[in-house]
Amino acid sequence: MSHQLPDLSYDFSALEPHIDEQTMHIHHDKHHAGYVAKLNAVIEKNPTLEGKDLVELMKGVDSLGLSEEDKTAFINNGGGHLNHSHFWEIMGPEKQVDEALQERVKSTFGSVESFKEEFGNVATTRFGSGWAWLVDSVGELKIYSTPNQDSPYLKGDTPLIGLDVWEHAYYLKYQNLRPDYIKAWWNVLKVLE
Ligand code: MN
Repeated sequence: MSHQLPDLSYDFSALEPHIDEQTMHIHHDKHHAGYVAKLNAVIEKNPTLEGKDLVELMKGVDSLGLSEEDKTAFINNGGGHLNHSHFWEIMGPEKQVDEALQERVKSTFGSVESFKEEFGNVATTRFGSGWAWLVDSVGELKIYSTPNQDSPYLKGDTPLIGLDVWEHAYYLKYQNLRPDYIKAWWNVLKVLE
C-alpha cells in the first residue's frame, strides 16, 4: 500500500486570515502531494521499504542499504510527507489545547510566551528553506531548526510542534516578511494557548 496524501480536517479557507486559502491549496495539493508521489517512487524502486512504518524507516535511514541518491530522495520526500502531515494536524481554526504539552512547555521555558519568543527566533533565523521544531529529545524538550525537509526523527527526536518556514508556506500573503507569518501562525496553532 503506497503512502497517501492525507485530507485536511478543516476547510482550506479555515485558517484565514492568518494563512490564506490559495496558499493552503498549493501547499497541500501541490507541494505535499509532490513529496508523497516522490516518496512512493523511491519505495517502488526499493521494495524492501514497502509496508514499513515511515517513522521507523526515517530513524534508521543509514541502515536501509539505499544508494546515496535514493537515500537523499527518501530523506527529502519521506521527511516532506511526515513534516507536512504533522503540520496540518497541529493547526486548526479553533484552539484544542494539548494540556500536557502546554504544562511541559511552561515548566521547561518558564511560560508559553517565552517559548514562543525562543521558537520564533529560531524560525526567523533559519537560513533558506527549512523547519523550526519543538521536539522531545530523550525526554527533554528542545527547540531547533532543520534545513530542507529533514525530519527530527533523523536525530531520534520526536516532533511536537513544527513550523514550515519554506517560502512556499507564506510567500503569497507575506512575501519576504517571514516574521509576520510566524507571528500570525500562533493564532492557528491549535495545541497551545
Ligand atoms: Mn511546506
